[in-house]
Amino acid sequence: MQRPTLLLFLLVFIISCNNPKPTASVIVHGGAGYVTTDDMTEQQEKEIRETIEKSLQKSNEHLANGGTSVEAVQIAINILEDSTHFNAGKGSVFTSAGTHELDASIMNGKNVQAGAVAGLTNIKNPIDAAIAVMEHSPHVFLIGKGAEEFALAHGMETVPQSYFYNEDRYIEHIEDLDENNKKFGTVGAVAIDKNGNIAAGTSTGGMTNKRYGRVGDVPVIGAGTYAENGVGGLSATGHGEYFIRNVATYDIAAQVKYGTSTLDEAGYHTLMKKLKSQGGDGGVIGIDKYGKVVIHFNTVAMPRGYINSEGETVVMIDQE
Ligand code: ASP
Repeated sequence: MQRPTLLLFLLVFIISCNNPKPTASVIVHGGAGYVTTDDMTEQQEKEIRETIEKSLQKSNEHLANGGTSVEAVQIAINILEDSTHFNAGKGSVFTSAGTHELDASIMNGKNVQAGAVAGLTNIKNPIDAAIAVMEHSPHVFLIGKGAEEFALAHGMETVPQSYFYNEDRYIEHIEDLDENNKKFGTVGAVAIDKNGNIAAGTSTGGMTNKRYGRVGDVPVIGAGTYAENGVGGLSATGHGEYFIRNVATYDIAAQVKYGTSTLDEAGYHTLMKKLKSQGGDGGVIGIDKYGKVVIHFNTVAMPRGYINSEGETVVMIDQE
């Protein structure tokens, strides 16, 4: 090999080592909170782990077959929404009025498009409605009746409020648990596809005994969900008011975008320093532009999982 060719080859090799091509990957959370595995029955823990595993594997299979990151996020979140173990979709908590009001959002990092819905009372999978808003409307955020009618017109499955009834949630509602016993349990997913496009989504029933009409951080783009190719994708969980006031997921992204932080360092700063110092309980998951997963939470537990670089499924609940 001639000298200039060799130098060029070396240069390309060094650049590609420093900027590894991201491999398709997915990470999910099932809500930051105060329920550790010590507080669960073996059966509950097993079901939570299995549901997270299934959500990751189905989503990852789709990515491996060339699916987009938005589709992968939808697949992962649908499985979590259909489980009673998480505070989203079927497992949604009660409002103070004894009803259920669901919020969700999605963001596509490829074109920074977003969709969000809030205060849904009869849509089985709110993340599907958020995606429909992003893909089939000129708007970003629809609420209440208007959001429900839009979702219905786009073929979403509707359910009666009794679909969301769950005895454990009902007990939490009538006992009006104190702050430390409040279970969050929101679900979220972030995925990066074969083309390096990142998407993030979040879905929730909100917080137990939230005031009727209250909207949390989950459907607020930049608070509960943010994605931008070249920066990363993020889904948050926790006491939503703190995440809104701190524009938490965008705060993390901005440190990467306008500063020198990695997504991991930025996530640590926002969750473990900024929010924690204010009493803002919660957590965040993310994927950076290289496909590296990010996890931070300042509560005692956060069911979560991801597919690692060897293609293995990793699931955790407590702090490690
Ligand atoms: N962030 C959600 C909310 O405030 C709650 C949660 O993450 O569990 O509505």
